[in-house]
Order: sequence, then structure tokens, then C-alpha cells
Amino acid sequence: MKYWAYFAAKLAVVAVFLRAVWDVMNRLLPEPPLVLHQHVSRYPQDLVWTSAIFCLFMLGVGLVYLVVWDQRTRCRTCLRHLRMPLAKGTWSKAILLNPPELESICPFGHGTLTESEVHIDGGRPAEWTAHEDDIWKELESLDRKG
Ligand SMILES: [Zn+2]
Repeated sequence: MKYWAYFAAKLAVVAVFLRAVWDVMNRLLPEPPLVLHQHVSRYPQDLVWTSAIFCLFMLGVGLVYLVVWDQRTRCRTCLRHLRMPLAKGTWSKAILLNPPELESICPFGHGTLTESEVHIDGGRPAEWTAHEDDIWKELESLDRKG
């Protein structure tokens, strides 16, 4: 729940920022001049306004992309960025047996994110595996046994 609330909060910040840019654009860019005593619409007829709309659209798409990318690389429990990426699998057996994957873990041991690096079939969605126990305690217990 905290994970999705954080995602929604970031999207809300982006929406507020884009709205502020929209308001600044409306304030700074003048209305197009009258043509034959008629108002023309800003969007398709005015090059400056149309260019500004295009830039605002690209800015919005870029910001939403960054929000989604940032969210995918966060722990589902504590929201910290995942660390220690580990490449697994081989490209020589990429199709069936041992496809290459990238595993990242939460530094506090809450879970592991496994992302497929093979994208020929549209790719598998990233898989989050929550750890039941603290993996660091498990590692310490393995060290004590050995
Ligand atoms: Zn975590």
C-alpha cells in the first residue's frame, strides 16, 4: 500500500508541476493576432504556442517515464532503491534453459526484484519476491554453521 501511495504521490507532484508550467505558458505567451477580425485558435495556427504545447507534452511524457522507472527500482516494503544487481543466466541458453536475468535486492533484505533481460517476446514482467525472514540473519546463521 505504501508503495502505491508513494507512486501516486509522485504522479501528483508531476501533475501539479505540469499544471504550473501550463499556467506560466498561458501567462507568458500572448494571444495570436486577429486575422480578418476573427480570433484564431492558438493550438494549430500559432507556431510558438504549438511548439510550447509540444515541449510541454514531451516534458510530461519524460517526467512520467522517470517516475515509473524510479518506482520500478524501489523496494516494495521500505521504498529504498534496490542495490547489488546480479546478472544470472547465459545468453547462449537464452531461449529456453537459462535466460539472462538481473536480480537486485533491497539493502535491508525485504525482497528481490528479478528482471528478464531477454526482450524478444515482449519480455516477462519484473517479478518481486518478498523475503519472509531477514536474509542477513539467514546469511549469518549459514556462516556460523560453516
Ligand atoms: Zn526494503
